Amino acid sequence: MKNIPYGRQHITAEDIQIVVDTLQSDFLTQGPMVEAFEKAFAKYIGAEYAVAVSNGTAALHLSALALDLKAGQKVITTPITFAASANCVEYCGAEAVFADIDPTTALLDINKVRELIESHPKGTFAGIIPVDFAGFPVDLEAFRALADEHNLWIIEDACHAPGGWFEDSKGVKNNCGNGTYADLAVFSFHPVKHIACGEGGMITTNDRALYEKLLLLRTHGITKNPDLLQENHGNWYYEMQTLGYNYRLPDLNCALGLSQLTRAEAGIEKRLQIAEKYNQALENSPFQLITVPEDKGHAYHLYIIQTDKRKELYDYLRVNGIYAQIHYIPVHTMPYYKNKGWKKGMLPNAEKYYEKCLSLPMFPSLTNEEQEFVIEHLNLFYHEALSNYPHSEERRIRTLAAV
Ligand SMILES: *Cc1c(COP(=O)(O)O)cnc(C)c1O
Repeated sequence: MKNIPYGRQHITAEDIQIVVDTLQSDFLTQGPMVEAFEKAFAKYIGAEYAVAVSNGTAALHLSALALDLKAGQKVITTPITFAASANCVEYCGAEAVFADIDPTTALLDINKVRELIESHPKGTFAGIIPVDFAGFPVDLEAFRALADEHNLWIIEDACHAPGGWFEDSKGVKNNCGNGTYADLAVFSFHPVKHIACGEGGMITTNDRALYEKLLLLRTHGITKNPDLLQENHGNWYYEMQTLGYNYRLPDLNCALGLSQLTRAEAGIEKRLQIAEKYNQALENSPFQLITVPEDKGHAYHLYIIQTDKRKELYDYLRVNGIYAQIHYIPVHTMPYYKNKGWKKGMLPNAEKYYEKCLSLPMFPSLTNEEQEFVIEHLNLFYHEALSNYPHSEERRIRTLAAV
């Protein structure tokens, strides 16, 4: 059996054809594929507007800029996420502040966020960046109520969650990133995520003014829109009205994303089936699973188990060609953030979670046979391998051969 990664893109003949067609078209960037992808993505998510950008990190940075995040302000996020969720705050000269997670979901704990806000002077925090971690939707309705109480904005980091949803108190089903509760939501199209563009990102919103600001910021702050120009010297004329960036997504990537999007729903179906199979197989195992309530749709970017023998299990799976992964090393324990005063011990739930978590292979093209191989080795680990740990001589040799 070939090695099995924790995540992998799926590319079809149609994907390849649309990229080739785009290569042969008039536009490699700034062409019609950009708007086509944006429109289709906004429709899929159920948001009014979508802005395609170079990657998920650029989406976070532009979102923070569009919300006027300034030096000296603070923004709250979770330590159990990819570093970019916090870094976007630091790009603006502002300060990322971490609040601990809820150990039952591994999501940002709203009670910890509330404590943090209420223990600081009014106006200390500008916003909150909750993450739909692993694809488990955060309770955005509750976060919105808290944010409104304190006049804060919300950027939903939905990089793990296209296709995820939650039911609000009115019984309305809200897709992650649909813009009903968050000001802006961001997505990533890195190949391990649901939709692969190579690199790519998207920002969704229902706010027209923010949408227009994002368009401006994405291309150097330049506009040619006659309604916005301060002067007009002729058809060639444009103005750079604010300091923006080049965070555009080329037509080649948009074409690939557009083609991938046609399989997004099927991809979620497959992820749910894989999760269900893991759930059943591991129900009575010593591994801790995260359970999803009925009123939430998990998007299963990741399928995470927790175990006290995490290191041993990680090594055992690896020796057997199963490349499980750890999501995530808590961001506040990274040297950059440690240099800013964060220390181990400050966020005990996140740190405990990190000691135990392991992401199993989860991607739509994972075959039945591959998943059964993974499950078999999870069982073998407890019944055979663990009693022989550290590795038996034979396993040790296989480990060395694999390295
Ligand atoms: C992947 C990811 C990002 C960053 O996306 P890139 O496209 O890699 O820049 C941000 N936040 C989370 C939670 C992610 O998983």
